[in-house]
Formats: sequence, structure tokens, C-alpha cells
Amino acid sequence: MIQTEAIVLHGFDYRETSRIVRLATRGAGVVSAIARGAKRPKSRFGTGLDLFTSGVAHLVLHPTRDLHTLSAFDATRARPMLAGTMARFTAAAALGELCLRFANEDAHGAIHDVLGEALDGIGGAPDAEVPERTVAAAWRLVGELGFSPSLEECAACRRALDAAELVRFGHRAGGALCRPCAALVPGARPLPPEARATLAAWARGERAALDDGRTIRAHQRLLREFVEEHLADGRALRAWAAWERGQP
Ligand SMILES: [Zn+2]
Repeated sequence: MIQTEAIVLHGFDYRETSRIVRLATRGAGVVSAIARGAKRPKSRFGTGLDLFTSGVAHLVLHPTRDLHTLSAFDATRARPMLAGTMARFTAAAALGELCLRFANEDAHGAIHDVLGEALDGIGGAPDAEVPERTVAAAWRLVGELGFSPSLEECAACRRALDAAELVRFGHRAGGALCRPCAALVPGARPLPPEARATLAAWARGERAALDDGRTIRAHQRLLREFVEEHLADGRALRAWAAWERGQP
């Protein structure tokens, strides 16, 4: 039995009285667990297993199985604000999907922490700020998974790049490419200096201004393509794509 901080990422009913949840935990990565009796009227889980709720999970880990047992969940922070608007909900679901798909082994709990902070930020933000906060958090998650893109130097020849230089972004190469290197990589996307500055600001944990729909969509697409290149197993990122489609 372990007790670890956790965030509810997904849940569905199982038989008459139970629920199966997926949790981003600090101590054990992303796990699936059965909460027996969670659907009973006076369940000890109460409303603690609502989507995106943080709490302390009491988990019995079964080393040989993928489904563990959740014996209790002490909710510490519900996030009803995330269900308040479509903009917030679809953004939170897009981040949750990244964790569900790729964060199975989160040895140091960093994914849990980045996600929790991002969900709080999105929940308290006006809708207009949600896209920027979400893409920024997604790049932080990608960084914690070990795939930070190269931005200050060419990902191929390692030459330092000038901040004003017009470069291209090569997904497979792993980041910005100088002009001669980009010429060898068909399909590398142009990355204007402002976009590179934005990515660098996010990598430092800072906020950046993204004020028009086109810029937001370009960043959403860049992140999705990068994740698909480095992390995905060929399956589409459905929640992320739904969030992208929902942008004005
Ligand atoms: Zn180069």
C-alpha cells in the first residue's frame, strides 16, 4: 500500500458499484486502479473521483497487473472551474491526454506537478488566456518526458542561432534548424523569430502573449506534430485534436 498525491485523469463505471480510474500520481506515474464501491450511495470516495480532482490516493499496487486497487482517495482540491466553459474543459482534456498517453513512467512526480499547476492556471484564467497556458504547459510536459526541442542552437550542426535569424523547425531533427541544415530537411516548418522566442519563454517557465487565432493554431499544430514524431505510437491525439478544432 502506498499513499501518494494524485490527479484524476479519467474514470468509467465498472459493474454495478465500482469505478475504474486513471490517476497521474506523484509516486507511481500514471496508473489505472479500481475503486470498489465508488458508485454506492454512501461511498467513502464521495465526489472525490471527479475528473481533474487532486488528492491523496491510497493505492495497493499489484506488481504483476496493470490494474491496481484504490482503497481510498482523500480529495484535497476539486476543480469544478474546468467544467465551467468548453474552452477550459477541452484544454484540460488535451493536457490530460498527453499524461495518459505518455507519462507512464514519471519517476520523480514532475508530470503530476506540472499538470496540477497547469490545471489550476487554466481553471482560474479567462477563456482568452487558456490556449497560451495550455500550449505552454504541454511543452513543459514534453520537456519533463525528456524531449525539449533545441531552440538556441541548430539541432543538426549545433551552431548557435541568432535570436533574429529566420530558421525552420525540424520535428525529426528535434528543433530549430539553420538555413543550410533546413535545406536538407524537406518539410521543415518556417519558425519566425517571435515563435522561437515564445517557445524559449515557455521553456524557461515564463508566460508569452499569444493574441490571435492564427498564432495559437500554429503553436497547437507545432506541438502536436512534435509529440507525434517523438512520443506517439501512431495513434491520433484525439482530445488534443478536438481542442485544436475548437479554436476560433
Ligand atoms: Zn545547422
